[in-house]
Amino acid sequence: MTAFDDHHPPSAELIADCVHCGFCLPTCPTYVLWGEEMDSPRGRIHLMAQGLSGEPMSDSMVRHFDQCLGCLACVSACPSGVRYDRLIEDTRAQVERRHRRPLRERLLRMGIFALFPYPRRLRLLRGPLRAYRASRLPRLAGRMLPTLGTLESLAPRLVRPERLPGRVPARGPRRAVVGLLTGCVQSAFFPEVNAATTRVLAAEGCDVVIPSGQGCCGALSVHSGRSGEAERFAGRLIEAFAGTGIDYLVVNAAGCGSVLKEYDDAPFAAKVRDLSEVLVELGPVAPRHPVPVTIAYHDACHLAHGQGIRAQPRQLLRAIPGLELRELADPEICCGSAGVWNVLNPQPARELGERKAAGVLATGAQLLVTANPGCLMQIAVGLRRLGRPVGLAHTAQVLDASLAGDPTRLRLQGDVS
Ligand code: SF4
Ligand code: SF4
Repeated sequence: MTAFDDHHPPSAELIADCVHCGFCLPTCPTYVLWGEEMDSPRGRIHLMAQGLSGEPMSDSMVRHFDQCLGCLACVSACPSGVRYDRLIEDTRAQVERRHRRPLRERLLRMGIFALFPYPRRLRLLRGPLRAYRASRLPRLAGRMLPTLGTLESLAPRLVRPERLPGRVPARGPRRAVVGLLTGCVQSAFFPEVNAATTRVLAAEGCDVVIPSGQGCCGALSVHSGRSGEAERFAGRLIEAFAGTGIDYLVVNAAGCGSVLKEYDDAPFAAKVRDLSEVLVELGPVAPRHPVPVTIAYHDACHLAHGQGIRAQPRQLLRAIPGLELRELADPEICCGSAGVWNVLNPQPARELGERKAAGVLATGAQLLVTANPGCLMQIAVGLRRLGRPVGLAHTAQVLDASLAGDPTRLRLQGDVS
């Protein structure tokens, strides 16, 4: 059986754009880790070309595709404009349809996709996870539990998650009506980030519409080749915001934003904005108060490489009086989170997480700021392993602390000591 069938195989035209120059190699985390050509973007494109020319889908071919984080650093680095993002998305969907994985892996993936895209199921797990962490039996658990345990450790404790109403009015004259994507992991484990996002948007003159039961956007499914499931999630999300009259749909999780902007429903996709994008587009009206803190800003891959958003968060953070922003070395290299990649590939994810954590420590910053729940969790784990405490916050929380004139809102999110 040939590797690919006729239903959206990776495009031969896009593959032909690659001139094999290798400029992408130093930015590819798997090539950086292992130095193997077939674990580089160029190598994976070569494997896709082999598949198109009639080679079967071998276990080794699938392994090299699976080991790709989908971080899209190669897309940013490529001078020829190769759309590796489209190539790997189509390839993954083919792998899911045409390759039978070993039973253990199928069960792990089944567990992941029965849980992660469902915020209610994730929320129900928080109590048992707390008990699991207290039991100090991580070695007895499977791969998923340590990751979920980490999520629980990072989630705000002691207080009940703030329940967001269906609509929050603008403070002062209304400048826009925006929808808020509450997300899966974000709403279950980082509800404070959604609450901070809502306060910031309202302070900047936005009515914020937050339909309940909006569910998953499908990003995790898209990034894992589960295209049918992703389409169903997308359909439900579009329906949840139908008739709400929003000017923008604001997203505060990088991976979700990059997928939402590629939805087939063009008018809906055109409304999608990252939080930092919409705030810069509208321009500030609310006064900023000092936040005397040194921060390191981490570019989430799907914000920087996936959406080309690097300047806006920095512009917003630098505008806060008293805040000093420091840059990380090798900002283009992924922290190893990559959706559920760190659950499926724990050892290399650990290496990448520790590299990033070491980079954070080298800046001497007091606080790591980023715009993706997966990155926050992954870097927190790396910092914990290195045994050095650094605070963690989403960009929205730093802005919220400044608008409120209350820097104490920026407490440590993760117990990284
Ligand atoms: S998406 Fe990331 S991991 Fe995959 S080939 Fe490109 S740079 Fe490498
Ligand atoms: S993907 Fe782009 S940067 Fe990488 S080898 Fe091909 S042309 Fe060069």
